[in-house]
Amino acid sequence: MSNNPITRIGVFTSGGDAPGMNAAIRAVVRSAKYYNLEVYGIYRGYEGMIQNDIKKLENINVGYILERGGTFLKSARSAEFRTPEGRKKAYDNLTAHNINALVVIGGDGSLTGAHLFYKEFGIPSIGIPGTIDNDLSGTDSTIGYDTACNTAIQAIDKIRDTAVSHDRLFFVEVMGRDAGFIAVNAGIGSGAAATLIPERKMPIETLIERLKSRAKAKKQSNIVIVAEGGKSGGALEISQKVKKFLPNYDIRVTILGHLQRGGSPTSFDRTLASKLGVAAVEGLINGKADVMVGVINNKIVYTPIKKAIVDDKEVDEDDFRIAKILSQ
Ligand code: ATP
Repeated sequence: MSNNPITRIGVFTSGGDAPGMNAAIRAVVRSAKYYNLEVYGIYRGYEGMIQNDIKKLENINVGYILERGGTFLKSARSAEFRTPEGRKKAYDNLTAHNINALVVIGGDGSLTGAHLFYKEFGIPSIGIPGTIDNDLSGTDSTIGYDTACNTAIQAIDKIRDTAVSHDRLFFVEVMGRDAGFIAVNAGIGSGAAATLIPERKMPIETLIERLKSRAKAKKQSNIVIVAEGGKSGGALEISQKVKKFLPNYDIRVTILGHLQRGGSPTSFDRTLASKLGVAAVEGLINGKADVMVGVINNKIVYTPIKKAIVDDKEVDEDDFRIAKILSQ
């Protein structure tokens, strides 16, 4: 809890960008103005904080961005912020601007930085979970995750058309370094033959059996979804292993990559980002600090950042079971 009244908020986006970050910035700016607070945009995350790339924002600066992907404040990864000297420079720049509260929109790394910064310098900060990976506790969904799932499903639908036409087996790699949320969601939503995620290792024999039984059932198409950080390797690696067992299959690999990070945010992500932006500002006004704001069961929840980044959010067991049942 912080006792000093908040007068000037600094807002920034950090780490990997995610669709809906603009909607969150807009909500922070508009709600700050609503409560008669000043708000400053810090460009390129912690890097801009260190390089003093900080500008005042007004309502007019955040018009026409709600529907746009990416982040107009830009995002970056900052090696210098990981050093005490870098963080001191950042602190000096914030105090020179009289910024006495922060809203950080980013993933677990960005929130870790905010936690450390708060412990060192005491400027109250609230994190907004912005990452397509959905790998933060304290919220049912992170900003950008829903859009990324929709993008993945749309791409897989298109791949399926060509897979069916040519009787090909496709391995489609989706993002999610340490978390299989996009993979499992896209697996269910696109009717995948199998979904391979980092949290679970599927023996290659199990995958081969699954593909063979689908062949017997005269399935028209076979799409296997692989999360990029899967324990058994990426899509390319797995496809090569499978080829050894099934030499007659015509196998192709598609890596969806960064296209999952872009695009106009879905209605869900815009609404989530807007709610969280307002709740972050209201949280700061009410003396909250060093917390992440999220939505759980449709209710705003503030979770200590330390807990949000440490607790490993797991793919729902039911989701994994459902994906398996439907892949037969
Ligand atoms: P994504 O989940 O999309 O990758 P992220 O926020 O986890 O997003 P990171 O690259 O892990 O992305 O972190 C963003 C930035 O946060 C880093 O470049 C660094 O400046 C800062 N940061 C991360 N971890 C720390 C840390 N332990 N100490 C200080 N700063 C950190």
